[in-house]
Amino acid sequence: MYEKEIAKLQEIIDESSDIVFFGGAGVSTESNIPDFRSADGLYRQQYRYSPEQIVSHTFFVRNTEEFYEFYKNKMMFLEAKPNAAHQKLAELERAGKLSAVITQNIDGLHQAAGSRTVYELHGSIHRNYCQECGAFYDASYVKEAAGIPKCSCGGVVKPDVVLYEEGLDATVIQDTVRAIGRADTLIIGGTSLVVYPAAGFIDYFRGRHLVVINKEAPAREVGAELTVAAPIGEVLGRIHVPGQGL
Ligand code: NAD
Repeated sequence: MYEKEIAKLQEIIDESSDIVFFGGAGVSTESNIPDFRSADGLYRQQYRYSPEQIVSHTFFVRNTEEFYEFYKNKMMFLEAKPNAAHQKLAELERAGKLSAVITQNIDGLHQAAGSRTVYELHGSIHRNYCQECGAFYDASYVKEAAGIPKCSCGGVVKPDVVLYEEGLDATVIQDTVRAIGRADTLIIGGTSLVVYPAAGFIDYFRGRHLVVINKEAPAREVGAELTVAAPIGEVLGRIHVPGQGL
């Protein structure tokens, strides 16, 4: 399956020396973390509020307990393991072919796979801070807390995750724009490209090869040279990285 597309992708990767990967929730579905917009994604499940409402700053402030109920059950998968997509991107970085992974994901799986330069546009479930005193808490503390996670000082612990209505970190934006702007190849994968400003950063790409690996067509037409409509772990799992074995 997809023999022609995979051969073309291999060719592009072989002749590239500064690949940047831009991804989203679809990268982690093969690790059994649901995305938002696939047919079986969280947006198709029935809640009293939409996921977009729940994962917003206003909702966090007004309905903190309900926020945490959803967040802990639907967005924190601490047992999840990196899949072939995460692993291949880490291999490409080790081989000196890939300079950065830019992700909208908050699950930390790229780092778990060994990727070093990872720009997390939307933060991470693995960093949590007390809103009163700034004390740090890890993900298991939040996950295991009964109800709202509280600091020893009594303050509410908030994930370092960019909720709707909140701004992105300025340094992460700068790093993202710089990496995309100098890449020779941009691979976009596992993202619907509907969440802004994240989806707009790909417009800084000026390189030679633009590739999309996504099960369904993203919301934006990006003018890709190669489009592979298949599971990204399966696709990247078949790529050979020089010096990294088969
Ligand atoms: P999205 O849910 O809007 O879209 C996911 C896209 O990935 C869809 O187009 C779908 O067709 C595609 N897809 C799903 N599985 C795939 C696979 N195995 N291979 C290839 N393509 C696949 O995701 P988004 O664009 O990242 O936007 C959702 C927002 O929700 C992000 O901002 C992210 O922060 C957050 N989110 C993160 C996680 C996570 O950290 N794992 C999970 C859910 C949501």
